[in-house]
Amino acid sequence: MAEPDAIVIGSGPNGLSAAIVLAQAGWKVTVFEAQPTIGGGCRSAELTLPGFVHDVCSAVHATAAASPFLKTLPLAQYGVQWIDPPFAIGHPFDDGTAAVVERSVEKTAAGLGRDRDAYRRVFGGLVDEWPKIGSSVLGPLRWPEHPLALAAFGLRAFRSAEGFAKGTFSDDRTRALFGATAAHGLVPLRHLLTAGFGLVLGTMAHVVGWVIPRGGAQTLTDALVAHLRSLGGEVVANHPVRSLDELPPARAILCDVSPGPFLKIAGDRLPASFRQRLGRYRYGMGVFKVDWALDAPIPWRAAACADASTVHVCGSLADLMRAEDDAWAGAAPERPFVLLVQPSMFDSSRAPNGKHTAWAYCHVPAGSTVDMLPRIEAQIERFAPGFRERVLARSVMPPAVVEAHNANYVGGDIGSGIFDLSQAFTRPTWRTYSTPVRGLYMCSAATPPGVGVHGMCGYFAAQRALADLHA
Ligand SMILES: Cc1cc2nc3c(=O)[nH]c(=O)nc-3n(C[C@H](O)[C@H](O)[C@H](O)COP(=O)(O)OP(=O)(O)OC[C@H]3O[C@@H](n4cnc5c(N)ncnc54)[C@H](O)[C@@H]3O)c2cc1C
Repeated sequence: MAEPDAIVIGSGPNGLSAAIVLAQAGWKVTVFEAQPTIGGGCRSAELTLPGFVHDVCSAVHATAAASPFLKTLPLAQYGVQWIDPPFAIGHPFDDGTAAVVERSVEKTAAGLGRDRDAYRRVFGGLVDEWPKIGSSVLGPLRWPEHPLALAAFGLRAFRSAEGFAKGTFSDDRTRALFGATAAHGLVPLRHLLTAGFGLVLGTMAHVVGWVIPRGGAQTLTDALVAHLRSLGGEVVANHPVRSLDELPPARAILCDVSPGPFLKIAGDRLPASFRQRLGRYRYGMGVFKVDWALDAPIPWRAAACADASTVHVCGSLADLMRAEDDAWAGAAPERPFVLLVQPSMFDSSRAPNGKHTAWAYCHVPAGSTVDMLPRIEAQIERFAPGFRERVLARSVMPPAVVEAHNANYVGGDIGSGIFDLSQAFTRPTWRTYSTPVRGLYMCSAATPPGVGVHGMCGYFAAQRALADLHA
């Protein structure tokens, strides 16, 4: 193997994006991936039965569709096709009805009764402002091109999701719909900044859709790898890097690795003060994930849920907040908030004829060993009686298995670290992508802008490396 200019450790979307940016600049790049398959949090596999294609981690790719960097790549040429289901979100309630979010703000608002105008004001306004604020939201802290628009957004985003929902909407159904969207951020809804998740993800539902790639998440990774290879880069799977000392010489090393595992492989190169700072980085709640092979669609009592890519299974805002507060406080929730995706409803390539797949997870205390399968299935039965009878096979991933699949998710924390006030903007330290060691960078979702398949952490880390080292 010829000596590379840069080595990227980890082939998640951020690692591959970083590698592509460097390869575009003419650098020779090698990516080393610990796992036998490439893609980190963006992979698919037959986890249950032959012919059932499940997403091992990410399933819904609004952040990829909205990514300023990924948008510049010829992904369609490599086979990426976005499917935009009729509804981005279905949120069923105990009375058999559901609230839904669809691409159109107007149509979504029309289904929200007395919150119609409030929803239109909030999300109609954000959709209009998105071209001004989108790239700031999906990037590190820097002077914005549109400071006034960003400040107006920031004032709302800074609030707790609970405060925002109760202050803005009057119907508990709309509050629950917003709260569940905000709860994707893996921080309880009483905390400041959680409104930001609800606003950003809610706006993306209208701007780009909560899209899913035809064929599964792996198709996105495969396209990134194909593009990287076309630029001369290479990816080596099944190659865990245990220490930086194992690597061939290179001008730059970019680690798509969160601070916990980063310290293990690079700690001896770092000054003690930086090691300590990284050691104080906080991981949050874990997830307990389940994939199902089904012999028929999920029998939602609220029919609209069948047309939603994502279904938020939790009921009222109070139920949702109880579940999230419990998991945060260290108790496995009795009635968890279940985030469920049903890709085969919109993509027949995901399951044999007439059969279906479903993917779901709930938040649990970090590293929890409680078996959440019965509680997750009970929650789905609550809104889709008869669900269990349709199950052909299951694959279960408790937090320890999530971490075993990907060292970045310490304790099963799929956010690669808590996104709260102290870690949102300067993650994992105020240096963000840089370290005190020349040529050594971090580029995982533990750097800005954080969780999600968008590649922007990799993009910005690689830009930093080019700026530092190219001169
Ligand atoms: C269950 C689950 C559901 C999710 N759902 C969604 C979703 O629907 N939509 C969404 O946008 N996001 C979702 N996410 C989050 C998303 O997957 C991540 O935010 C994203 O993948 C982060 O990308 P990354 O490149 O930073 O790191 P990762 O994708 O985590 O990749 C890091 C890679 O580095 C490798 N690695 C680590 N240490 C080493 C080492 N020492 N040597 C070599 N390789 C190493 C790992 O094996 C891994 O392949 C989900 C995640 C999980 C786990």
